[in-house]
Amino acid sequence: MLNVENINVFYGSVRILWDVNFHINEGEIITIIGPNGAGKTTIVKTLMGLLKPISGTIEFNGNPIHQAPTHHIVKDGIALVPEGRELFPRMTIMENLQMGAYTSDTREETLEWVFSLFPRLEERQKQSAGTLSGGEQQMLAIARGLMSRPKLLILDEPSLGLAPIMVNKVFEIIKTLNSQGVTVLLVEQNIHHALEASNRGYVLETGRITLEGASRELLDNNHVKEAYLGM
Ligand code: ATP
Repeated sequence: MLNVENINVFYGSVRILWDVNFHINEGEIITIIGPNGAGKTTIVKTLMGLLKPISGTIEFNGNPIHQAPTHHIVKDGIALVPEGRELFPRMTIMENLQMGAYTSDTREETLEWVFSLFPRLEERQKQSAGTLSGGEQQMLAIARGLMSRPKLLILDEPSLGLAPIMVNKVFEIIKTLNSQGVTVLLVEQNIHHALEASNRGYVLETGRITLEGASRELLDNNHVKEAYLGM
């Protein structure tokens, strides 16, 4: 579904991503893990067309997207749930969802689907987003991402700053979405949860993919255990 080949991305003259390669098959949950500043968000921004690689290619369902504008990429079927949620706090839940649907022709149907996944958002649709708890805001951010009917949903640090019970809920919803046909790319610092929830994973360190494999193998890998799981 997504094929990233040898991308090199710079901020000004500083090289952040070094010949990064990875792929995502339809139906998978993939995770990219790595320390702060490794370049995970840079990958996400490049996939969404917010940064352009200096070299390398990104193909989505066989079409090159590395030079495409973001709104085309969203229309093609990729959506991002950004780090820090980036909701519109003074707007209502419904208005936030409508913002996510701006490229979609099937708003009503999609809204029904999204409310079936998040019934609390339906109950509170007139409430402003800024008054929700952190966990509820994360659910709204995911719901807004779904409003463009993505085939691939990218979630950047969805569990950051949430209480353990909400972290579990976020991972449950990711698995439910995947069982309903949404392919998922997960960028996480909560490495244990991310590897437990995903099929395959990539380790990104100082802008380079240093390890890749089935998530259960990565959970067993000595470097991952020592560097990321504190074992
Ligand atoms: P985190 O987990 O902290 O979000 P990350 O793996 O997502 O980290 P990035 O946010 O992609 O890392 O940052 C990669 C590198 O790029 C870091 O060294 C960071 O300081 C640098 N960087 C990020 N944004 C910019 C920017 N707008 N201008 C210049 N450098 C930047």
